[in-house]
Amino acid sequence: MSDPLVRMGGMDLLTSPLRDLLTQASAVLRDATSERALERATEHELAAQLGMIAELNRLGEALLIDAVGEVMRRSEPAVRDERMTSHLGCRDVTELIQQITRVEPRTAAKLQRAAKAVRPEVSATTGERLDAAFPSVRDAMLDGVLGTDGILAITAPLQETAPRVSAAARQEAADVVVAEARGEGPSAAPPLCAELLKIHAQAWALALDPDGAEPRERVAERRRALTLGVATPAGVPIHGLLVPEVAAQLQTIWDAQTSPKVAFDDPTAVDADGDLLPLPAMDDRTRAQKQHDAFAAALSVAATSGLLPTIGGYAPVLVVSVDEHDLVDGTGYAHVQGCDQPISIAIARHIACSGSIQRIVSRNDGRIIRLGTEERVFNRQQRRAIALRDGGCIIPGCGTPAAWCEIHHVTEYAQGGPTHTDNGVLLCWYHHRFLDRIGWKIRMNQGVPEVLAPPWHDISRRWRPTTTSPLRLKKRVLRT
Ligand SMILES: [Zn+2]
Repeated sequence: MSDPLVRMGGMDLLTSPLRDLLTQASAVLRDATSERALERATEHELAAQLGMIAELNRLGEALLIDAVGEVMRRSEPAVRDERMTSHLGCRDVTELIQQITRVEPRTAAKLQRAAKAVRPEVSATTGERLDAAFPSVRDAMLDGVLGTDGILAITAPLQETAPRVSAAARQEAADVVVAEARGEGPSAAPPLCAELLKIHAQAWALALDPDGAEPRERVAERRRALTLGVATPAGVPIHGLLVPEVAAQLQTIWDAQTSPKVAFDDPTAVDADGDLLPLPAMDDRTRAQKQHDAFAAALSVAATSGLLPTIGGYAPVLVVSVDEHDLVDGTGYAHVQGCDQPISIAIARHIACSGSIQRIVSRNDGRIIRLGTEERVFNRQQRRAIALRDGGCIIPGCGTPAAWCEIHHVTEYAQGGPTHTDNGVLLCWYHHRFLDRIGWKIRMNQGVPEVLAPPWHDISRRWRPTTTSPLRLKKRVLRT
């Protein structure tokens, strides 16, 4: 052992007092529980007890942070065999902390960051004790004023200003915020919680380092990424980091498609004329599922907009290959170029319906017997007319606006359904994709779409005309 302090060793000063503490803490907890002390406390007492327990917790965290700092110091030697992590068979400090303290990786990382900010440095040559990076923060930790959250709230924003701001200036700013944490700040406010401490520290960091925002933005720009993981039967994972304005744009797209739903649910609803009113669809999708569907719709809109760069003079086209028999029988699988996983015939039909794709049907021997053509694709004028008639997704209560909808061939193109406004209706990506499964039926009645709700939803089993078009809704209101 080369470590000068450990060489002095053999003096275990901590195990015995810690054991006493544990015995005491355990006894306090047991008594409090058996006596139902918390339940019997007045509100005032309970609030005071909560504060004391938190202080105890912060002192415990202080011990933990110092112990973690020591583990880090002993795991820093360049020679792997000399590291404490190696002696205990751990890959790194995070793994060691996780195993011994049973915290999650994020907590282990936080403990290490806190330890870096407040551990006293030890001179590698003399073994002499040097100051911590933030001495006043360390003092407040030892006084039970700051726990892990408080330490990081103050030190993390200030540390980001390095190396542009001197260590002395950072420490001075920390001193002021620590005073606020102790309730001894100029405003004479009571001790601040971690969140407010962070806001104060951030304000200081900005004042000391006004140009800091730009380097931070450059970091975000450098780290920007969007990647698809390995395709699995359960889906394709997506990973990445969006620059803030792109995230904001995506959020806007999501917001535009998840408008509040119409809510009325009389299963035999009729208006004053005796005309059937539409029933709202049940939408039990999670928020994340809705966002997925909105993203899918945005891609579909982009692909059919005619504004995307072309490939070899043609708009990007999703190629679906499917066997003739499978298509007729509705069995088997289709393949999408660019994706390793097979897709079902139902999904192939959905993709084939929405117009941004070309379908290639081949025979058993591989001969191509039918190519999807441009005729299948509703043109701009047709799309505009259908949007005016339907208003948005025609499933009642869906509320997805026309701009985010796909056009569904009511009678499938492969079954001879024409690409005509009388055969095209607006459906959102979700209702288009899951139309078969969710049980809504669609038909055209003299060029007007009607829907039949699934039996569990509408016991009357009647076809109802459907629209969210302001023009047609106005006509209906005027008749009454
Ligand atoms: Zn819909």
